[in-house]
Amino acid sequence: MQKSNYLTSLLVSCALLLPMQIFAGVGDIAHKAAQYAEATYQDEMTESLRQLMLFNTTAKTGLASTDNPAHQAFKAELAKQAKQLGLDFIDYGYVVVIGLGDSDQRVGMITHGDIQPFNAKKWAQSPLILDQISEPGKLVGRGTEDDKGPISNALYAMKSIKDLNIKLNKRIELYVYMAEESDWQPLREHIKLYSLPQVNITLDAEYPVVTAEKGYGTISMTFPTKHYSSSKSYISEFSGGFFGSQIPEDAHATIENADKKLLAQIQKLAKSQAGMTYNYQWQGKRLSISALGKSAHSSKPEHGINAITHLAEILAVKHWPNNTSGALVNFINEHLGTGLYGEKFGDIAYSDDFMGPMSVSPTVLKTTDKGIALNINIRRPTGKTTKQLEDEINSTLANWQQKNQIKLLDVSNEINEPFVQRDAPQIETLLEVFSFYTGIADAKPVSIGGGTNSRLFPSAVSFGPSMPGTEYTGHSEHEFITKKQFILNLKMYTAVLIKLAK
Ligand SMILES: [Zn+2]
Repeated sequence: MQKSNYLTSLLVSCALLLPMQIFAGVGDIAHKAAQYAEATYQDEMTESLRQLMLFNTTAKTGLASTDNPAHQAFKAELAKQAKQLGLDFIDYGYVVVIGLGDSDQRVGMITHGDIQPFNAKKWAQSPLILDQISEPGKLVGRGTEDDKGPISNALYAMKSIKDLNIKLNKRIELYVYMAEESDWQPLREHIKLYSLPQVNITLDAEYPVVTAEKGYGTISMTFPTKHYSSSKSYISEFSGGFFGSQIPEDAHATIENADKKLLAQIQKLAKSQAGMTYNYQWQGKRLSISALGKSAHSSKPEHGINAITHLAEILAVKHWPNNTSGALVNFINEHLGTGLYGEKFGDIAYSDDFMGPMSVSPTVLKTTDKGIALNINIRRPTGKTTKQLEDEINSTLANWQQKNQIKLLDVSNEINEPFVQRDAPQIETLLEVFSFYTGIADAKPVSIGGGTNSRLFPSAVSFGPSMPGTEYTGHSEHEFITKKQFILNLKMYTAVLIKLAK
């Protein structure tokens, strides 16, 4: 890595002085094609994205992508666009491959066409309609960043290469998987039957190059229904969250037999929190509290403000009676808190030098006929075995149950392995292109909390679409990509494809 960084910084410093010489760094042909793409296809590419966004490609429980009419319509639109651009199109069901050129040697781009759910009330207009007006300079809507924007980028990078008749030694393939957000099994099945490109880039995370991804995990449990009544104050309802991989921005609590003194104590704690908004409502002696935080991708809990943990924290004015909601609030305060890394969850917290700390985020509370189900999303680096983690989680849960004389129901841990890519010959090329187009000279591979399909493809690493150090908005209720980034991605993908396929 040292050598490549030295080379990249040298090239970038040269760029200021000797514009012609720098072309040798990215390559004259690659750079000219990137410029051509930028000059020719900004509007068409935006229109492509607008069309792709119109289809609500969220996963429907119990309905296969191949039977889902919105997914079928989305793929028909993709087929139409590919045909118009002169690219070949193969529909394998859950997997669509759009190709350019003819060779056994292939370069793959990995994307997905499904989206996460959204709460339409939180958007200026339907997030399925590309919004270019509400926030100047931004393309706002579901899928702009994750992951329909990159599909349009890839299509027009391929189209530009085709227009210019650039001779490539390798075929380029764009993979669009239809269940990345919900179920990776159909992709695993596909891979058993069909061979994949030898070298791949995933367009579903961030720059410069992602060589490690934390393992996704879920800890779940149900706090059993316990009918309760008292003349003293108690929590009768606690709810919040939307879906498993979103840091929740909404939460709600109801307290019975509350009084002004209790409210003052709660409000005092609320004042010490930054970024939360609370709404208090009285109905006789019943106090309802609505909490508004900030949603974010659960792999980036630092970018959000978790409404569930913050609401629980302001309720920590006392130890509540252990009815269903009270036990839940007590548990959250004792073992989760507003920290992001499992600091209070027994011994589970740990960190890796390159991959960073494990994150531990309660994301969804769901009332079922058995009680309230708590879903905790974790993202774990290398450094502990799954067995060790499970033992530590179970021991904390066992102690808590013992101490509180409560039997939690449906306790389960599902913890996936972290992924580290050690075999990706294209990394130096990706870093060179990134440095050339961004002016960031000391680009180095990074690790992320999110999990992408990189781990299922040979020699795959993520390359964009988001800039390092910026807020990732996929999975949030304010998803966007800046127009500038959208164009920059087109240029970088065009240049990179030429360099990797020549
Ligand atoms: Zn994604």
